[in-house]
Amino acid sequence: MLADNLKAVQENIIKACEKSNRDPKEVTLIAVSKTKPVETLQEAYDAGARYFGENKVQEITAKYPELPKDIHWHMIGHLQRNKVKYIIDKVDMIHSVDSLRLAETIEQEAAKHDLVMPILLEVNVAEEETKFGLGVSDVIPLLEEISKMSHLKVEGLMTIAPFVENPEENREVFRTLKKLSVDICNKNINNVNMHVLSMGMTGDYQVAVEEGATMVRVGTGIFGERNYTIRK
Ligand SMILES: *Cc1c(COP(=O)(O)O)cnc(C)c1O
Repeated sequence: MLADNLKAVQENIIKACEKSNRDPKEVTLIAVSKTKPVETLQEAYDAGARYFGENKVQEITAKYPELPKDIHWHMIGHLQRNKVKYIIDKVDMIHSVDSLRLAETIEQEAAKHDLVMPILLEVNVAEEETKFGLGVSDVIPLLEEISKMSHLKVEGLMTIAPFVENPEENREVFRTLKKLSVDICNKNINNVNMHVLSMGMTGDYQVAVEEGATMVRVGTGIFGERNYTIRK
């Protein structure tokens, strides 16, 4: 069943690419496995998933040693500075950088491990008060600061679009993020790339792909509903 879900999502991504004249190879599917046990992640791995997204440091550190080493772990959730050290050598990318202080901490921890951490800046495009992320106008000033940090590599932008009934309602959000990334690209800021647009979740990933997403983060669509109540 999980394998069928995964296949269906992959096929939907291909269809969205055909519709928008894009190469499906440009789009990476991140299986958002938060709250799911390692057995379920293993099942997804066996069905071909290699990119997993988690939003809690504790879940990454618990699952990481239990699963194959060729998994690419992506930190997609809000990250507290005092926890960066636990994941710095485990994740391939941090999607949720939204402050200078957090960037500085990642820079320091990456330096300790002599690595360069790929990051995305999280943008709260819809300016929802309940969400983390930078306002659109705060992105370029922060990039200019981060561009001086030698253990960070900015690869692009991420957004969490509002929860909506009809995914078309989020098309404008995705367009805005895409446009922002093009504007940034044109500025040629040192050490800043805009290869990655991480946008689209279960409810709206096809629309996000049509609007240029290069990473989609799909949880429920692959793993089914999450049950938060049984967790401690
Ligand atoms: C949970 C989560 C997702 C996946 O959400 P679904 O609606 O289950 O696909 C994507 N991105 C982030 C940041 C998340 O926390």
